[in-house]
Amino acid sequence: MARYTGADCRLCRREGSKLFLKGDRCYSAKCAFERRPYAPGDAGKKRAKESEYRLQLREKQKAKRIYGILEKQFRGYYDIANRQEGVTGENLLRLLESRLDNVVYRLGFSKSRDEARQQVRHGHILVNGRRVTIPSFRVRQGDTIEVAPKAKDLLVIKSSLVSNERTEVPGWLEVDIEKLVGSVLSLPNRDQIDADIHEQLIVELYSK
Ligand code: SF4
Repeated sequence: MARYTGADCRLCRREGSKLFLKGDRCYSAKCAFERRPYAPGDAGKKRAKESEYRLQLREKQKAKRIYGILEKQFRGYYDIANRQEGVTGENLLRLLESRLDNVVYRLGFSKSRDEARQQVRHGHILVNGRRVTIPSFRVRQGDTIEVAPKAKDLLVIKSSLVSNERTEVPGWLEVDIEKLVGSVLSLPNRDQIDADIHEQLIVELYSK
């Protein structure tokens, strides 16, 4: 599966906001966006013209980068969201939130979604007792997500947990951090999704 492999901090600077892609570093004074809150490159400090299209495009790019997915897959999520009942923008965010890598991150089993993806790919995560190695796997209400018994002592898992003590688990999930087991109480409403994304702009972009 293709993915962006460039410098994560450039993405935050490009989008003009913190996307929290690098775990602990994002909360420290080392955060590149805190030190240089303007776009990378020679023209970074110049203010780009804020056309409606540009705002919509930037919002879509920001959402893709937060969840770590590329255009084709993102467009696929939009198409599914558009076919579902309800508000398309909220449907889109719900689909993104219900990805297994995002859920592992939200449960506090990893410092970042990138790290969560690695944990899933390496077979460290079980869903309803079965190993799932597909980061885009969509969880459902009632699913149980846990760190595989053999992975519970791995250093990477332990260090993720320590750094995640400050993280609040959203209300649509429940976690037993001692046992490294979580469950999906329900799929999230918009007000349960902590993401600085104006999803309506994305819907407007794709509706053209
Ligand atoms: Fe973004 Fe985190 Fe890098 Fe700061 S440290 S620029 S929030 S990825």
